[in-house]
Amino acid sequence: MNTPTDYDALIIGAGPAGSTAAALLAEHGHRVLVLEREKFPRYHIGESLVPFTYQPLLRLGLIPKMKSSAFVRKYSVQFVSASGKASQPFYFFNRYNRETVAQTWQVLRSEFDQMLMDNAREKGAQVIEEITVKELLRENGRVVGARAQKKSGEIAEFRAPLTLDCTGKESFSTVRNGWRVKDPYLNKVAVWTYYQGAKRDPGLDEGTTTVAYVPEKGWFWYIPQHHDMVSVGVVAEGKYLSRDGVKSPAEIFQREIGQNLWIQEHLATGRQTGEYFLTSEFSYHSKHCASEGLLLVGDAFAFLDPVFSSGVLLALKSGVLAADAVHEAIVARDFSPARFTTYATALRTGIENMRKLVYAFYDPNFSFRKVTDKYPELAGELTDCLSGDLNKDYAKLWKAIEEFAPLPAELPVGMPLVTSKPELRVA
Ligand SMILES: Cc1cc2nc3c(=O)[nH]c(=O)nc-3n(C[C@H](O)[C@H](O)[C@H](O)COP(=O)(O)OP(=O)(O)OC[C@H]3O[C@@H](n4cnc5c(N)ncnc54)[C@H](O)[C@@H]3O)c2cc1C
Repeated sequence: MNTPTDYDALIIGAGPAGSTAAALLAEHGHRVLVLEREKFPRYHIGESLVPFTYQPLLRLGLIPKMKSSAFVRKYSVQFVSASGKASQPFYFFNRYNRETVAQTWQVLRSEFDQMLMDNAREKGAQVIEEITVKELLRENGRVVGARAQKKSGEIAEFRAPLTLDCTGKESFSTVRNGWRVKDPYLNKVAVWTYYQGAKRDPGLDEGTTTVAYVPEKGWFWYIPQHHDMVSVGVVAEGKYLSRDGVKSPAEIFQREIGQNLWIQEHLATGRQTGEYFLTSEFSYHSKHCASEGLLLVGDAFAFLDPVFSSGVLLALKSGVLAADAVHEAIVARDFSPARFTTYATALRTGIENMRKLVYAFYDPNFSFRKVTDKYPELAGELTDCLSGDLNKDYAKLWKAIEEFAPLPAELPVGMPLVTSKPELRVA
């Protein structure tokens, strides 16, 4: 079958997943078009990076820009108990090279995502902002492009043998295809806002991410950013957060501050600024990563509870893996969904590893200390998984953790939808 194509790949969404895939495909000399609904720079949550974002950022050629940016350097993570007592910060340089993986960043997503989008443009991708994809174009059941609406109201159609859905949590095609599967137990709500002038620890600890427990209920994140701002949010079950009929995000947030002394004290010197945000769409997976003409990348494929800051890593990593697989498909002139089986396997393996840790975190009988006290030889593996080295074999670690908390079975999702339809071979 011959399909007229304007582009080699069409990408919907210019977040970390879309801009990564776009930059790497354009670098190969492919004709890439990115359609982005917003005008950048735009606000986005997801501000704390993990050490293993280093590799995709290196591949994108962005390490020098990150190093010279104003983003706060993150050298460690610490956990604060429900009573307000902080653990010793866990420093990444105790395991990784100080010059590379051991130092990561707390980013302002408006600036970080702009950098990624600019990079895609510099590498040759065409990016159109303020254009919203409304519909996927289909011919004989396969996706052949998208219909989109510009800010002016004008409708335009774009065609390519492959469309990459990088639309984030809205998961444009996942939802329309009925592919979205909720994670059985990770059903939480997050409420967050920003403080200026709140307390931060000195020196190396200035950029530490703090995870502070709400007694038996959930946790706070505390992420120091540049311009003396702190991103702070609380994650717990909706029923708990809205107890006694409290509904407004501001009231929910202000009440929860009182549940952790460390958070209370650190925010006391600061001033709340801007909106309060709320999201309840937590942790889901897509039944398939691809079908004829379509590939899902980043949050559009899966979204995990953000307790270990894995979202941007998974978006960047899936952007790299997708670009490599799509490049091979373009070279082979073979766009059959089965080509993306290796992509799906790599991503699902990584997601399932992180998902196990997230489940353990929410188990009241579990603590990292219990595991490392009993199995000190596994501390390094635990660190690797938490730092985002997601595709290692962690069988020994899971066996040890299961002594303290049951771990979830792997979800049978994510493989490409392979039908008997003929492959598209572009002449
Ligand atoms: C409360 C919370 C806290 C989080 N904290 C962290 C954290 O600390 N660290 C971390 O790494 N991750 C965190 N995350 C996760 C992180 O935000 C995401 O994983 C990450 O942004 C995914 O990148 P993406 O490129 O897949 O999607 P996005 O960044 O969401 O980008 C998608 C883009 O697609 C565009 N788009 C959507 N629909 C259309 C359409 N129809 N047409 C055109 N364009 C469209 C959007 O405008 C957007 O720019 C958090 C998430 C939540 C909810």
